[in-house]
Amino acid sequence: MPPELAGNVLISNWWLHRGGGAGRGGSTAATKSGHDHPVATLDAPAPVRDRRPPEMKFVDEYRDAKLAEDYAQRIARLVTQPWTIMEICGGQTHAIVKFGIDSLLPPTVALVHGPGCPVCVTPLELIDKAIAIASQPGVTFCSFGDMLRVPGSRQDLLAVKAAGGDVRIVYSPLDAVKVARAQPDRQVVFFAIGFETTAPANAMAVFQARQEGLKNFSLLVSHVLVPPAMEALLGSPLNRVQGFLAAGHVCTVMGFAAYEPLAAKHRVPIVVTGFEPVDVLRGIHQCLRQLEAGRAEVENAYGRAVRREGNLPAQALLQQVFRVVDRKWRGLGTIPQSGWGLREDFADYDAERRFGVAEYTAEEPAECLSGLILQGVKKPHECPAFGTRCTPEHPLGATMVSNEGACAAYYRYRRTNLKPATAA
Ligand code: SF4
Repeated sequence: MPPELAGNVLISNWWLHRGGGAGRGGSTAATKSGHDHPVATLDAPAPVRDRRPPEMKFVDEYRDAKLAEDYAQRIARLVTQPWTIMEICGGQTHAIVKFGIDSLLPPTVALVHGPGCPVCVTPLELIDKAIAIASQPGVTFCSFGDMLRVPGSRQDLLAVKAAGGDVRIVYSPLDAVKVARAQPDRQVVFFAIGFETTAPANAMAVFQARQEGLKNFSLLVSHVLVPPAMEALLGSPLNRVQGFLAAGHVCTVMGFAAYEPLAAKHRVPIVVTGFEPVDVLRGIHQCLRQLEAGRAEVENAYGRAVRREGNLPAQALLQQVFRVVDRKWRGLGTIPQSGWGLREDFADYDAERRFGVAEYTAEEPAECLSGLILQGVKKPHECPAFGTRCTPEHPLGATMVSNEGACAAYYRYRRTNLKPATAA
């Protein structure tokens, strides 16, 4: 099936098309895991706040069409009024759009897409800083691949590479440390973006560089934190979010205790969940169950990876290397205490200081509505530029660049079904 059509099909059709379900020999869960069919998890007692890992073990089990349909039916029976739920993470947005999860829900349940795509929320001026650093002679600039195509004010990192700059895609910040070790005559910079998920590896890279005494390694840091962004969204006059799906990988690192004051203060249920279709549907079901019951608690529907306290050694490393700072988010503006920057102890490894780009500023293109999309106020196809002046080949905004960006996901999986706003 062409990938651009896959998202237009209900999970059940998609599953049958790929030869799954009974056609592959009955319940995959039973045959692969040796446990009962995962539908049994639906009949488990109501989820507790920090649930132990469920019975399922293999990724196919989290894509089981029958289980997904059962969740959808339970949701349909449960819902008595309109609700709006935001999935925080771009990975969840991608899964929802790709697998058509929203099409399984009653029309009264609206899913809106949150600011949890790291590429999407990295501010324009950080891209300009990266380009300025990468353009300098003697610099090797290392980054994850997505960032190379994000447009800055005038060009992107790919253009720097095309013009002869040493811009490299790496798969880990520790690869950038290796480059620094191998090339002591060059300044090696790693573009350290992302949420709490990617921060421990970046912290480890700079920690290791210092341990080794590497003087030619530095980080361009743009780390952002989820709870302050949720607080900002909930405090916005535009807010229409009544429940959240929190990102399982973020909570794997940080735990979920930090979400409890948010849930209590704003009377909003928050369910930690994963990224496969059944994960997402389970999270939606638990969130709706709370909304319908008038509860506002934090529940963990990703017990196979997340504990309330999170990963304590990773958190200790983060504390050692980073400090909480105000951070500008693309489309959302500056959110107080919403990011990490390097501690003074590690200031020698701060690329902004080393290359003198700390004071850069940039204005986002007025035409791009990504700020409203990242707040769940607009959907991508409601942007007049969607699919016309803005495409993945020629993106105007970051939400069209990243695989996790809502605009890119709608373009990839739904553009044949959705009319751009200008053509509506
Ligand atoms: S379609 Fe393009 S211009 Fe419109 S909001 Fe998305 S990224 Fe911005």
